Amino acid sequence: MDSQSNNKSSRDNASHDRQKAKDVRLSNISASKAVADAVRTSLGPRGLDKMVQEEGGDVFISNDGATILSKMRVEHPAAKMLVDLSKAQDVEAGDGTTTVVVIAGSLLSACLTLLGKGIHPSVISDAFQFAVEKAEEILERAAQPVDVNDRAAVVQAAATALSSKVVSQHAALLAPIAVEAVTRISNLDQPDSIDLRNIRVVKKLGGTLDDTELFDGLVLNQHANKSAGGVTKVTGAKVALIQFCLSAPKTDIENNVIVQDYSAMDRVLREERQYILNLCKKIKNTGCNVLLIQKSILRDATSELSLHYLAKMKIMVVQDIEREEIEFIAKSLQCVPIAGIDSFVPEKLAKVDLVEEVTVGTEKMVKLSGIQGKHKTVSIIARGSNKLMLDETERSLHDAFCVVRSLFRRRFLIAGGGAAETEVAVGLNKIAKTLEGAAAFCVRAFADALEVIPYTLAENAGLPSIEIVTELRNKHVQGDKNAGINFKKGCISNMAEENVVMPLLVTVSALRLATECVRMILKIDDIVMTR
Ligand code: ADP
Ligand code: MG
Repeated sequence: MDSQSNNKSSRDNASHDRQKAKDVRLSNISASKAVADAVRTSLGPRGLDKMVQEEGGDVFISNDGATILSKMRVEHPAAKMLVDLSKAQDVEAGDGTTTVVVIAGSLLSACLTLLGKGIHPSVISDAFQFAVEKAEEILERAAQPVDVNDRAAVVQAAATALSSKVVSQHAALLAPIAVEAVTRISNLDQPDSIDLRNIRVVKKLGGTLDDTELFDGLVLNQHANKSAGGVTKVTGAKVALIQFCLSAPKTDIENNVIVQDYSAMDRVLREERQYILNLCKKIKNTGCNVLLIQKSILRDATSELSLHYLAKMKIMVVQDIEREEIEFIAKSLQCVPIAGIDSFVPEKLAKVDLVEEVTVGTEKMVKLSGIQGKHKTVSIIARGSNKLMLDETERSLHDAFCVVRSLFRRRFLIAGGGAAETEVAVGLNKIAKTLEGAAAFCVRAFADALEVIPYTLAENAGLPSIEIVTELRNKHVQGDKNAGINFKKGCISNMAEENVVMPLLVTVSALRLATECVRMILKIDDIVMTR
């Protein structure tokens, strides 16, 4: 081959590579945008809900971006990144999981336009990074500091998070519950160590959401064992949480015990009875009068015989405690789980004023109230007329908990209803004017992309979106940094006065994570399949 044709073929190759990179990028962007479009309609207080059917046939209804996306079967690798994005926001802030995906989708559209203008992906990526840093500064300037001891302000933020949920009519009841729950488990001096696993929502069918309450103590989903006249109420209880079985031990799988004659059979039964009776007596001797027994996968945790003896000894029995619950229960009661009869000592018992089985709706549960010592967990009894509602209530409460935690971690509130995003858009457009060349283009495109939030909020509420967004932008240009969309009146008004506020952390995290994800998608120029 002569050198000329060599040159030509390498030029062809290079152009082929460029074309391929472009194709891959476009395919990535359009797949990710499709994911974003899927959740767009559920944004905001007037957003619609999604009914999701799982593979097994189960159906649930949700408005929560992270929940909907996590159930979606997404094949495209780049689209999966958007699913992970919403998960990341869920971990980082807990709320704003729809917002983050919608913003990312809009930024990706902006990328398409910019790429179409011939701007190099790295230039776009750098400009977006610059823009998001400036955006954070703008938000910090617009935010209002809050005193976390001011209950009303914190409740407002929780109520805003709930107002865009299926359970929105009950926000006035649920928001104070959420705030109270998080406050109880937190140490305000160490806001980063707030562990939301210390709050447990027990869901009970029956009644309405209005009956949802915060319970001062511990609630168990299980019921008391009533066979052989078991006890269902104990005052001045001494509770043991045990992880061993009160039934006759089984042989190993391969071994058999062959009982040959009648007297041997008698002896076996007698020994079993003696063994169980001994266990029960030892338990009784420690003063224990309530037993919480972990479920066993090997054999029945109790037998007819042990239940009979325990009932005779007036010991209340609650069975089927799940392995995963043990830690929470131990923390709530401030007791140590007991692994064997030999370590069953009085020091390991928890003192509780009252343990009783109660019936709520159609179901039973066990309530432990007046736990001695300062316990650091909270139980919430959620009520609802159907399972779909109960599950969504739990998810919505989780968002509200996260909002309160976000606020404890970073004590600033920012106006919602599209106010924060518009403020950033207007601020960035001002900054873009001081820039030159492609960077100015990119920053402006970034700014305009953020208006997708007020635009979508208005669209979802059936308001004239273009007029609303234009008016909103004008208000912000004039310096009204809290102007947002008022859904009650269908116009623009001051969101701080309407009490539509969100933690700064939620918005900042959404912007930061969305930008990071978009930059990553932008920089991919090939998909390599492995076998
Ligand atoms: P996400 O999953 O991202 O939290 P939501 O469906 O909760 O999505 O919607 C959040 C958006 O709705 C935020 O931009 C917030 O400002 C806005 N919003 C929530 N409540 C109101 C309200 N009462 N009035 C106006 N905007 C609201
Ligand atoms: Mg929300």
